[in-house]
Amino acid sequence: MIIRSGSCLCGKVQYSVKDAPVRIGLCHCADCRKESGSSFVTFGIWPRHAFESTGEVKYFQGRGFCPECGSRIFNKAKETRSRSGSARSTWRRATSNRSANSG
Ligand SMILES: [Zn+2]
Ligand SMILES: [Zn+2]
Repeated sequence: MIIRSGSCLCGKVQYSVKDAPVRIGLCHCADCRKESGSSFVTFGIWPRHAFESTGEVKYFQGRGFCPECGSRIFNKAKETRSRSGSARSTWRRATSNRSANSG
């Protein structure tokens, strides 16, 4: 089993996802552009049961962020949509506009 983990910039919110994502993608919609300050957002989607997180997360219109450092991390729906830019490991290459935590 592959476990990928990630965190917000300050490290108070940590998460992990198991195995492969259901799907990955880019979104160029107006909300994603506003949220990210970039021309698009890269993301992966995992089923809820494959996702775990610790730390307080606040949500704006379903989009989760760390209340301490403001990093956008994941969104919760029926499935979890994780911003690939916040993941450690090879996902970092797909990051458009943010630096992932080193480590
Ligand atoms: Zn944080
Ligand atoms: Zn979008």
